[in-house]
Amino acid sequence: MRHITLLLCFAMAQLYAQENYALDTIDQQELQKYVAQYHQSNEALMRTIKNTYPKKIAKQLNENFKNFGAEFEASILAGDFIFDKRFLDMANAILDEFKLKNPNIPKNITVLISKDPSLNAYCLPDGTFVLNVGLFYWLENKDQIAGVMAHELSHKLLEHSVKGQVKQIRDAYSDKRKKQVKALKKTRFNRSKRAFNLYKSLLYTTSENRRKREIEADSLGFLMLRHTKYNTFELIKTFKLAKVYDTIRPKDLKKEIYPKVFDLPNQKFNPKWLKCEDFSTYDYDLYKEDFDKDSLASHPELMIRINKIKKTFKLQNVESNETQPSEDFLELQKLADYNFIPNLMHFENIGASIYLCLKQIQEGNDEQYYKKLLGENFKIILEGRKKYQLNRYLERVKPNKQSQSYIQFLNFMWNLSLPEIENITNYYTKK
Ligand SMILES: [Zn+2]
Repeated sequence: MRHITLLLCFAMAQLYAQENYALDTIDQQELQKYVAQYHQSNEALMRTIKNTYPKKIAKQLNENFKNFGAEFEASILAGDFIFDKRFLDMANAILDEFKLKNPNIPKNITVLISKDPSLNAYCLPDGTFVLNVGLFYWLENKDQIAGVMAHELSHKLLEHSVKGQVKQIRDAYSDKRKKQVKALKKTRFNRSKRAFNLYKSLLYTTSENRRKREIEADSLGFLMLRHTKYNTFELIKTFKLAKVYDTIRPKDLKKEIYPKVFDLPNQKFNPKWLKCEDFSTYDYDLYKEDFDKDSLASHPELMIRINKIKKTFKLQNVESNETQPSEDFLELQKLADYNFIPNLMHFENIGASIYLCLKQIQEGNDEQYYKKLLGENFKIILEGRKKYQLNRYLERVKPNKQSQSYIQFLNFMWNLSLPEIENITNYYTKK
């Protein structure tokens, strides 16, 4: 009896934990409202452009914004955003603090939280401010979120996106732009990245221009941040974290995890699953740097920006000025953590998703939860395999772009036969 009660308690605790980390959702009708609101706002931007710029330039600019708008609306409808009050409230509270202390910030800014788990944010010229949920996962406190927001708001205030495009159009760049937009539309992987990449490509022209605009946004961002209650020293730490985590680079999965997870009662583990294609001719050291080294060392540009800020604003002893995360921030960090893999699944990034499930299991974190997610991911792999569409969910090995342990993982996945995938799926979805 005691056994059963204990088991029941455990099951209830698990259920409670999982329910507790579920994100608020909105229905299709409310989603349409957001789309309509964005559409109106984008139309207003295009009207302003029409009244501001010469006809030829305005026409091309507005074509860019129309294309971008369509892409962005599709992304809202596809469920790429989180409409959870807890995230929105915190982001809006930070935004309100900026507005209160910096009257030059426009009033009509709408915050959206993207499901994208990478560390990124962007403020569109119409005033739509996208914060990736990854900010809440990778950053360490509210002040750092404020740092990112200050930087992106500065791009918006300085109209970098529009000005960058005007320059491109003047440089008769429009054909190349059209091709880029077209190519981006065809991309299947990392759908969430598309809008972001497109925005970035509209923001910058040359790397020289990019550097100039980044330094401008850094400086204005710092000035705006200084007026608020947030710790400006955290801005430097934000830079460092941003460079490390702006893309998800799965690494550090040990080989021992495979027999641990895939030796099943009705399907013994087969060592042949771990067989790898021979990439011995590749120089692993070439890209190892990118994964393992302190990323600052390999990004001198960021170092220049950090030093510039330190010098301009006479910052000293940055390291000794640490901010402790607040309770409400830690709560959102936990939420972002529990939804990290579900968010990857939403973007059909099943490779990284399974890899990270295995890594959580390897590290002994909430095994039951991650095994359940493992099953859900394998279900998608099984369907993809049956329809000969595995490519859609699982990357091919790219020795110069992936870590050694991710290459091992992809080999394992591609080595599995259909009945083997089915057995694994059945085992882990039954639990
Ligand atoms: Zn920037």
